[in-house]
Amino acid sequence: MKLILLGAPGAGKGTVAKLLTKIDGSVQISTGDILRGAVAAGTELGKQAQAAMKAGDLVSDDLIMGIMEERLQEDDCKSGYLLDGFPRTIPQAEALKALLEKMGEKLDAAVEIDVPRDVILDRLTTRRTCESCGAIYNTKSNPTKVEGVCDKCGGAAIQREDETEEAISNRLNVYNDQTAPLVGFYENEGLLLSVDATSSQSVIDAIQAKIG
Ligand code: AMP
Repeated sequence: MKLILLGAPGAGKGTVAKLLTKIDGSVQISTGDILRGAVAAGTELGKQAQAAMKAGDLVSDDLIMGIMEERLQEDDCKSGYLLDGFPRTIPQAEALKALLEKMGEKLDAAVEIDVPRDVILDRLTTRRTCESCGAIYNTKSNPTKVEGVCDKCGGAAIQREDETEEAISNRLNVYNDQTAPLVGFYENEGLLLSVDATSSQSVIDAIQAKIG
């Protein structure tokens, strides 16, 4: 499967991607995870991305395309990929289209996961992420056994710097302004798949019904 998962922060793209990787062996590619890894490692890429990420703004299209051109040519992408958090702007979508044409590849669909803003705000302010292994928790629906400690690896389960109310509100505005127009872009491309976003399972069922 070669899919784009489109949706606001907190819509469940990452959860759906993780479940799909187990079903068909595609890899999840999250530009957010790649960037957070670069920030944690203190690389040049991380330094360039850090300020924008902390504020909930987008990092530059050039930086993102540099990452993705390399990533999409790695061997593990041959069995399919789930793009989680990319593309996020029309220029990124256009650059991705040109890149895939050059590589002789075609996407199966751009899946639109549309979740109401109040649900997203509640989900993100209560989300906790393990600093070490990236596992996701929620203080209400899926808390860690010991507060602040990851069940899987014992790392620190923290609130991300960009998950304060102020940064979340900015991320949602950025999504509406810069990323939501991709729905129209992929509709024109004949690739848009709008799904029932009630649960991750309903999203997966809709994808499997369409793509198999
Ligand atoms: P995410 O985990 O997908 O919400 O991404 C966290 C942050 O990383 C975003 O708020 C942006 O600052 C940055 N980011 C991730 N993916 C992209 C992208 N495709 N384009 C620009 N910035 C991105």
